[in-house]
Amino acid sequence: MRYKTILSGSIYQESHSFNPIPTGRDQFQIAFGEDALNAFRGTRSTLGGVIDTAEAAGFEVMVPASFRASPSGIVDDSVYLEFKAVMIESARRGGFDAIVLALHGAMVTTAHSDPEGDLIRCLRDIVGPSMPITAGLDLHAHVTPFTLAACDFITGYKTNPHADMAETGQLAMQAAQAMLAGKFEPVCVSVHFPMLTLGQDRTDEAPLAGLHARARELVENSSLYDISIFNVQQFLDIANMGQTVVAYGNGNIDEPLAAASEIADALWKARDALVGALPDIRTCLARASEPDRTRPVVIGDQGDRVAAGGPGDSTFVLTTLLTDFPALAAAVPIRDKASVDRCRDAEVGDFVDLVIGGRYSTETPPVHAACRLLAKGENIEAVMRGPAHGGMAVQTGPYAVVQIGRVSIALTELPLTYLDPNFYEAMGIRTADQRVVVARSGYHFSLNYADIGDCMTCDTIGMTAYRPAEQPFTVARPFYPVDRMAYQPVTAVRKRLLLRS
Ligand SMILES: [Zn+2]
Repeated sequence: MRYKTILSGSIYQESHSFNPIPTGRDQFQIAFGEDALNAFRGTRSTLGGVIDTAEAAGFEVMVPASFRASPSGIVDDSVYLEFKAVMIESARRGGFDAIVLALHGAMVTTAHSDPEGDLIRCLRDIVGPSMPITAGLDLHAHVTPFTLAACDFITGYKTNPHADMAETGQLAMQAAQAMLAGKFEPVCVSVHFPMLTLGQDRTDEAPLAGLHARARELVENSSLYDISIFNVQQFLDIANMGQTVVAYGNGNIDEPLAAASEIADALWKARDALVGALPDIRTCLARASEPDRTRPVVIGDQGDRVAAGGPGDSTFVLTTLLTDFPALAAAVPIRDKASVDRCRDAEVGDFVDLVIGGRYSTETPPVHAACRLLAKGENIEAVMRGPAHGGMAVQTGPYAVVQIGRVSIALTELPLTYLDPNFYEAMGIRTADQRVVVARSGYHFSLNYADIGDCMTCDTIGMTAYRPAEQPFTVARPFYPVDRMAYQPVTAVRKRLLLRS
């Protein structure tokens, strides 16, 4: 008997509909075949969880392609089509028993508002109705009945900040394995409604902590296989944008129907508690100025979170530091290709006249200054120390580190999330020496910086601030809380056609 084989693969990007910079192929880290397999094996990523679980269970794993980019603007459709073509070619070639995908789920391309759904449907058309197809997605995925109808099992992270990517890949793999063994007959009930969660989105705090605890309790005390609560990414101006609760029963519909309805109702009832308030920049920087402080304050720049698709060139925190808190040693990231280019022609130690940031984040003007060049390079690999994404390598692309007063500025061509202190450390900025360290993230950074500093998400202005009424949503509307609307849940059921052999 031959070993069973899994066809996996990953395309992973989170899009921001209002970020004007399109995301091209050059922003993706791309690996094919054995290179992709080796890059993700043993990492705390969704794809790593799929690979490690499959191999531990004696499966062979094929990863034809992994395409991965930071959250950013809408993706050039040709990038998605390239990935899709590789996956389709592998699917047509056959030689595998199930498909287990590692996807983000909130990607939008210039031609597809639900590319992950398009991919799964095309793979389903090739392999037919009986082959298991499962997928692990981000908690912020845009999950539609269209996608759910073509997939046997979809599971999302249960944590925000995200700490369980590998476990999500593991569950997607285990579900496929259980289907192959004839032990899992997925019956999917999804409940969807148009609403955004805004600012009180942590799963370790009320109200989401209670909802996830209840979902876990339901799964543990029944034959339910899984419940995922997808709080959609907040900057997707696409059709059917909203919250989706997905529950899977094993063979019966009653349990997932009751569970999905109960959790969705509770999510709607918690709608006002999901809109939070964050401290302003002066509160955060005053905290960093406390004389007895021994650790940096790590600031999540809420208004320009690359982790949520922001452009990464807001100067809001930088300007406030230079103007009002010049005594604070700080590390600030700015995505600015032109400044990186200017530094390329200078020597380390030189002063370079730069106009930094504010090109896309137009509400924060550029900073003009003579900056001392501390370091530069064409690329450096930052290996994330985790716990989130631990072991994964991120390429910085071309960069320069410059200094104005006591502020070290990490300039990069690419937008980077700074989810992990090693982004800075790789470029030679010691985070432990700072009073302030800025991450382009609202939640996720707090996991990986917890041991070096005190994390605060700061209510700053910008493209990723939670002010949906001020953003040019059209297609996604109406939705709560921009539109005062009643609860209008849409329930969909999908029962797998089990072909018993
Ligand atoms: Zn997410």
